[in-house]
Amino acid sequence: MPLLQVRDLCLTLPTRNGPIAVVEGLSFDIDEQDSLALVGESGCGKSLTALAIMGLLPPAISISAGSIQFRGRELVGCSDRQWRRFRGGAMAMVFQEPIASLNPVLRIATQIEEVLALHGDGDRRWRKRQAVSLLEQVGLPDPAALARAYPHELSGGMCQRVLLAMALAGEPDLLIADEPTTALDVTVQAQILDLLIEIRRQRGLAFLWISHDLGVVSRLCDRVAVMYAGKLVEQQPVQTLFGNPRHPYTRGLMAASPSLEQQALPTGIPGRVPAPEDFTAGCRFRDRCSQAMELCFEDPPAFPLESEDAWVRCFLMDTSATSAGEALSNGEEAK
Ligand code: SF4
Repeated sequence: MPLLQVRDLCLTLPTRNGPIAVVEGLSFDIDEQDSLALVGESGCGKSLTALAIMGLLPPAISISAGSIQFRGRELVGCSDRQWRRFRGGAMAMVFQEPIASLNPVLRIATQIEEVLALHGDGDRRWRKRQAVSLLEQVGLPDPAALARAYPHELSGGMCQRVLLAMALAGEPDLLIADEPTTALDVTVQAQILDLLIEIRRQRGLAFLWISHDLGVVSRLCDRVAVMYAGKLVEQQPVQTLFGNPRHPYTRGLMAASPSLEQQALPTGIPGRVPAPEDFTAGCRFRDRCSQAMELCFEDPPAFPLESEDAWVRCFLMDTSATSAGEALSNGEEAK
């Protein structure tokens, strides 16, 4: 049994024209000490997936189908009180905007001690000592003084370290990180990434890493799942995905990433991710794919690849389909 098992997850938004599936048929596993990156452009459903796992979906969005199991325990259908036993404890999350994620009117120590009170079993004195120790473990200087500070007295990088200390306070087995370095400048970003790598090594944490930054993903994760318009389109181990991306969308993402090794300038993917109300049947990347063919008006199945647990949802993997689709793939633009 994997540590986290997500199966056929659907997240639905009610609208005047009926419910819309913003995330559809999502399935993946994360084992103990494993690390999976969920990558894709903004608006593809990555963050909603993370919030669904943590039981923190906005009220308008609901889980309409599927299963989320943590250590074999089904979370879908749990009350908020039951979910709270896992959230912040065995499953913790760090968010994109570190300063906005902290309570501005509470001292740093108080915020860490709140987590320790919920998920630890020591008394008040133990919690005070532990809060300072956690600030030290995430590399903050003068942790005793910092524990008495308010969030506005700290830089963005320091706030992210505090959030990490809060996440570690519950002794998690799984850390979900939603673009935790996006709001930081490049040098602080690199320091936070080094810290995360070290923490993962020391504690044997499993990661679910949400990102659009493929460079960061290649440093931190073992496997990558690529998401487009609410669906997973490709999953591979990190080396094989970077060495041989198979889905046209994954190839587009890589071509759009700046690289010091490549001479060529990054090239963008034409068009944009469709809004959920514009999702249609068939491959959702069809309107942006230069290799689209008639068959792509149907839903592509997951074609297995050479590596274990690796697959891609694209008809180009089906040789009989590619010959049938010659008319569109020979230059005619996909409609
Ligand atoms: Fe989708 Fe077809 Fe392009 Fe593959 S070839 S990504 S199935 S539109």
